[in-house]
Amino acid sequence: MPGSPRLRRVAGDVWLVQGSPNTLVKACGGDVVVVDPGIGESRAEAVAAAVREIAGGEPRRLVVVLTHGHTDHLAAAPGLLEALGGGEVAAPRLCVGLVEDTVVRRLVVYGGAVSEQLAAMPMVGLRVTRVLEPGEGLPCGARVVATPGHTPGHSVVVFEEDRVVAAGDAVLGERVLARFGVPFAAELPRWRRSLEEALLPLAEEGYTVVPGHGPVARGGRAAAMIKANMEAVDRVTGYVLRVLGDRGPLTLDKLAYMATVELGAAEPTPRQLLLNRTALASVLAELEREGKAEPVATEDGPAWRRKP
Ligand SMILES: [Zn+2]
Repeated sequence: MPGSPRLRRVAGDVWLVQGSPNTLVKACGGDVVVVDPGIGESRAEAVAAAVREIAGGEPRRLVVVLTHGHTDHLAAAPGLLEALGGGEVAAPRLCVGLVEDTVVRRLVVYGGAVSEQLAAMPMVGLRVTRVLEPGEGLPCGARVVATPGHTPGHSVVVFEEDRVVAAGDAVLGERVLARFGVPFAAELPRWRRSLEEALLPLAEEGYTVVPGHGPVARGGRAAAMIKANMEAVDRVTGYVLRVLGDRGPLTLDKLAYMATVELGAAEPTPRQLLLNRTALASVLAELEREGKAEPVATEDGPAWRRKP
């Protein structure tokens, strides 16, 4: 298939359709599980072709699993379902609203119902037909593990027999991490806890970890990638504490601008500033809980200063 994304075996019977995000496919006895179909003009057809190749024809039963309700992970799902004659759409309970409604999604990601142009993503919503609970079993020996933080409901899919983790955005490839400086998460401190308590133990047990955005990693490489993500949160938290002390009080908007310019390589576009503002709000909340920062009213809006 010229121009189609590379299809390769990750481990056991789990296959990777490369992309950003990556898509994982496993077929077993007529059942097919697809994790995060992705986004892009030709993505639905490419994933459908991969499913037919892996399953040796049309699946008898298709389950499309979404690790979370972000557009880049789900936009190709309606086209994929159409190409393969329908199937189930499974998503974690707390992501159902994000998957089904593009306004809810924008509210949670950007802190307001920003324009479609500003969000720069196709406004695709789809109906969830199966609500996933932590620990729930899926076809093909897969199970759901809650990894809240990137979104409150974010969950990874673990293919037990193959020892592969479809990690979604619970972990980012190191190059993506370096580019953005502030990793996007609705709750950065909780994202870090999920990395440490849910993902790192799996990596250390030898599971292959497939991030949504980044290369497949296993063994020491997987653990190193996860630790780099944890360190990125520590770096952001340390940065916020320092600048609140040196230059505070700072409004969330000012803090987002400074962090975008000083911590990452990404341009401070309006969209990037909004994403970083969402993530940084959760860092300020954690610093407040720890008694290290406090909000104050200023003529520029609510601002935060370091608590002595
Ligand atoms: Zn995401």
